[in-house]
Amino acid sequence: MNRFITTVVAGLMLAGPGHAGVTEDDLKNDQSITTQIVTNGMGRHLQRYSPLDTLNKDNVKNLVPAWAFSLGGEKQRGQETQPLIYDGVMYITGSYSRVYAIDVQSGKELWQYDARLPEGILPCCDVINRGGAIYGDTFYFGTLDARIVALDLKTGDVKWRKKIADYKAGYSYTAAPLIVNGLVITGNSGGEFGIVGEVQARDAETGEMVWTRPVIEGHMGTLNGKESTMTGELNATWPGDMWKTGGGATWLGGSYDVETDTLVFGAGNPAPWNSHLRNAGTPVDGNAGDNLYAASRIGIDPTTGDIKWHYQTTPREGWDYDGVNEVVAYTDRSGNKRYATADRNGFFYVLNREDGEFVSATPFVKDITWAEGIDENGRPIYNEGNRPGNPAAAADGKKGEVTFSSPSFLGGKNWMPMAFSQNTGNFYVPSNEWGMDIWNEPITYKKGAAYLGAGFTIKPNYDDHIGSLKAIDPDTGDLKWEFKNDAPLWAGVMTTAGGLVFTGTPEGRFIAFDDETGEELWSFQTGSGIVGQPVTWEQDGEQYISIISGWGGAVPLWGGEVAKKVNYLNQGGLLWTFKLPKALAMAN
Ligand code: CA
Repeated sequence: MNRFITTVVAGLMLAGPGHAGVTEDDLKNDQSITTQIVTNGMGRHLQRYSPLDTLNKDNVKNLVPAWAFSLGGEKQRGQETQPLIYDGVMYITGSYSRVYAIDVQSGKELWQYDARLPEGILPCCDVINRGGAIYGDTFYFGTLDARIVALDLKTGDVKWRKKIADYKAGYSYTAAPLIVNGLVITGNSGGEFGIVGEVQARDAETGEMVWTRPVIEGHMGTLNGKESTMTGELNATWPGDMWKTGGGATWLGGSYDVETDTLVFGAGNPAPWNSHLRNAGTPVDGNAGDNLYAASRIGIDPTTGDIKWHYQTTPREGWDYDGVNEVVAYTDRSGNKRYATADRNGFFYVLNREDGEFVSATPFVKDITWAEGIDENGRPIYNEGNRPGNPAAAADGKKGEVTFSSPSFLGGKNWMPMAFSQNTGNFYVPSNEWGMDIWNEPITYKKGAAYLGAGFTIKPNYDDHIGSLKAIDPDTGDLKWEFKNDAPLWAGVMTTAGGLVFTGTPEGRFIAFDDETGEELWSFQTGSGIVGQPVTWEQDGEQYISIISGWGGAVPLWGGEVAKKVNYLNQGGLLWTFKLPKALAMAN
């Protein structure tokens, strides 16, 4: 208890006049300091769990709007940001690489930054941004032309601006950057263009590169401007030169586990999608066609950029099951320190925190077709008949055998972050029940062109719902409750000590559920679809909640029959802030 009080007092002192801005301690203690939110994930463990319990199951019905903020303009595409809150100001990012600083009491804009984007940017999956980072008196965020920008927290003036990679080759940037020990750490986007996934660490003060770590085997990392170590072993799991354009985009960013001093990043699908081109001659012995470290979670040393461990969820991946989904650190009911991650491929994995070793995997969506399960070593038990066929084996050599595979390439779960509740010990997973017809085609790499070698059509698996918010016991994989939604879920989830689970729907409803029963306790219609990430904090003794509304993201662009089903939904760009007024906090 004493330690907790000390932490809070230290936090308050730092937030006082003349403070030096957000410190490493602020980042480390973000989950317990309830008056601010300075990390993506509401704490470095990415639990998205708030210890606030002012708002609870009894009084959530009294939650009312405090203010709303329009992102303005005609740039109303998918809004996926997670707000940050510091020193009375809320910071959000918007579509088309915009940033807004907003007075948290009044909802009044303090400053706005619009990145000037060049012609010819190549974002694969809408012009979204998922949020920024704060360190010292600087706000950091990435842009669709693959740059990282450092802005003055008070004015929005540019301090520095650096190129992550070449947007003309298909690179872009959409994730929230990560701050660790004075470094600003970023991944990259562009996995559908034959790019190479990488993690980069820069000096947060100057923007100078400290280290780089490509995540596809055969590529060299750098440290302080010199070559450091090779990623993996050249051609151990990739044939010929395919590794040079091997994909593995690190597009969802990463997290930092202070207890093991490890960065955890995910790598997307190997490129191209046509898996037969990446493991010619398969079946092969051992792991020769696995295409490391695509479709993997990777533990990285934050000082050197060296890889400490990896766990590949989908070896020789062939369905666009990116391995990027967030890895949440938690302690299980027996006191074991674990990671949990719900993969695009439909399985919910538990890994050991120390070394990333596989512990268990259970399906979190129905009707998985591509694998019978995951064996005791963590390797999929493939259903070989469900691998899309090799076009080279077709009579005309142009189209391989079509399979119906589930989940669809947009995944049992996509980018939208799940939450863990310290109340219940359960995870709350935003998932989707859908499949796809998928087939392979010949393809050759061309800079800046889509590098898929595949065609596809997404289809709902059920008539009455696609979206499914699931409460999952991580110790058993058991489903505790489920909320079904007509449209696919695409928003983040948040839990609170008040026993509440919050998320939003593409139909525009922002909903609070009972964390034990799944009963819907409150909802609010936000006017456009919700694909953003909720947060909660306290201000002058009152509990606030914010969520951005603004339909978009990958579903309307890539969703096949599903996109047609939801094409009536309106776009938007409105940040809603709610509060439980003091007078109503005690009322039932
Ligand atoms: Ca992908």
